[in-house]
Amino acid sequence: MQIGTIYLVGAGPGPVDLLTLRAARLISEARVIVHDGLIGPDILGLARADARLVSVAKQRARHTLPQEGINALLVREALGGSDVVRLKGGDPFIFGRGGEEAEAARAAGVPVEVVPGISAAQGAGAAAQIALTHRDAASIVSFVAGQCKGLAEQDWSGLAGKGRTLVIYMGVSTAGRIADKLMADGLAPGMPVAVVENAARPEMRVLRGLLAGLPELVEAHAVKSPALIVIGEVTAREDAAVAALAQETVQ
Ligand code: SAH
Repeated sequence: MQIGTIYLVGAGPGPVDLLTLRAARLISEARVIVHDGLIGPDILGLARADARLVSVAKQRARHTLPQEGINALLVREALGGSDVVRLKGGDPFIFGRGGEEAEAARAAGVPVEVVPGISAAQGAGAAAQIALTHRDAASIVSFVAGQCKGLAEQDWSGLAGKGRTLVIYMGVSTAGRIADKLMADGLAPGMPVAVVENAARPEMRVLRGLLAGLPELVEAHAVKSPALIVIGEVTAREDAAVAALAQETVQ
């Protein structure tokens, strides 16, 4: 029997028309799709009627299927002869654990291909009209993971500040510790920040404030996952686009 291929496919930040054409084609042809919780019904609706959809949705601290189990499932399906689409929010290689799945595939001798997706940072930047880099304001952009595990040990010094944009994934529940950590590193309490919830989706909210007030901003507006925190001067550029957007923005 021929071994199948594992396709690690990025689904982008939500809207179906932010899929790549390659992702859409693979989803519409697949017989087996293993997807996580951030994938909406519009995108799953592209699958064939007879496709087998397996959800491996994860929540912080409550994993439906541990990563090793997902790796084993993908490998088992491929060794059984099926091509498998492993569909992930955003980009598979940005905080998506796609690297581990690719390694598991290679270790088992299963062919693996990776299809990039629009990561949340790019989706949020575009939808909220925050230019992550800007000739006048930022020539460095960093992506960091803000979840509890190891937050204290992570060295973020130098990642935020003048001329730099810091994008924090999975940081909503630790916003207070994140603000403290950055200010302890010497970042000004008055550094502008934005929180983008449900970026690029119809229900998107963009909240703007200052670093010292970040925990209150998140709490006062009951920000929920998925959301990104963006730190840097680019979040406060008052140009026409931002002014237009402000009408639908909760301040
Ligand atoms: N691979 C994904 C990230 C997975 S980690 C990517 O490249 O985007 C999950 C985190 O991504 C969430 O906790 C949130 O911080 C962020 N995220 C994903 N989709 C988002 C969206 N539509 N709006 C805001 N943040 C999002």
